[in-house]
Amino acid sequence: MPPHPKTWLSVTPAGLFCEPGGFYVDPQRPVDRAVITHGHSDHARPGHERVLATSETLAIMRERMGVERAGQIQQPLRYGEVLHINGVKLWLRPAGHVLGSAQVCLEWQGARAVFSGDYKRRPDPTCAPFELERCDVFVTEATFALPVFHHPPAELEIARLLRSVRLFPERTHVIGCYALGKAQRLIALLRQAGWDAPIPLHGALMRLCRLYQELGVDLGELVPATVQGREKFAGAIVLAPPSEIGERWARRLNDPLPCLASGWMRVRQRARQGGVELPLIVSDHADWPELLATCAEVEAQEIWITHGREDALIHALGLRGIKGRALHLIGMGEEGEEDE
Ligand SMILES: [Zn+2]
Repeated sequence: MPPHPKTWLSVTPAGLFCEPGGFYVDPQRPVDRAVITHGHSDHARPGHERVLATSETLAIMRERMGVERAGQIQQPLRYGEVLHINGVKLWLRPAGHVLGSAQVCLEWQGARAVFSGDYKRRPDPTCAPFELERCDVFVTEATFALPVFHHPPAELEIARLLRSVRLFPERTHVIGCYALGKAQRLIALLRQAGWDAPIPLHGALMRLCRLYQELGVDLGELVPATVQGREKFAGAIVLAPPSEIGERWARRLNDPLPCLASGWMRVRQRARQGGVELPLIVSDHADWPELLATCAEVEAQEIWITHGREDALIHALGLRGIKGRALHLIGMGEEGEEDE
């Protein structure tokens, strides 16, 4: 009998630890050996000794936290490339979440566990698509694990945005979006929809967009949204962090029309709270049907849930004869869409 993953993967205060391999996955405090799924700050923490991740995730970490804090020794691993660490087989599969995002696949003495990190199943022009890996235990997030969360196709949301731009050509559409992943995906979706005007960006979004471009993601012409002369941005689509769309910064633009791009925009109340005039339901996380489909397709006997709305998911899995377990990992869900 292959050893059940619960006998060799343990939840510690630092995070999920692979005992025979001697490494942590997405540890929350500095450790000797860390495997990192993606660059969001609730998964990629500074100060580790050795860091193993895709080269894109390593580049994102260096950009965000500086070379000194992004790991003393950084080891890049390509998707599908296999490593053996103290008898543990390790490889990465695309998670479809943000550029460089990976699922960490582990096999020890014939038993297999997959730590998905954050993921989505929808196409995203800025990153490799999710790849399914069958396993005995699948470790999933549950950010949008409630039946209310059905994300519409992102292309339809972009079409709604462009209709609004045509309807209010003198106003400046200011879209609140997160700096890593969401901003670049929105830009790429706008380009796919034929929007080829330069896109002004709030300063906080520029560095990671430039890094995406350096890593080969085509985003077209991006310009700094330095606010001099309100008229300059009339009719433009401007991107800014969510915290800025209702602030003084945005009010200096020409008759700004605040938009917010997030899976949470499915909840009307959330959209109203922030003074958002045009909520756009665009998410980089799996919605409820995607979570259920993925948990079934990996054919795992057990699903472990890192963070989010685990109760609803465990209940729904139970009805399908799959055992669910909440890991209650602390520190997850603090960046991106997890919660605002
Ligand atoms: Zn994430």
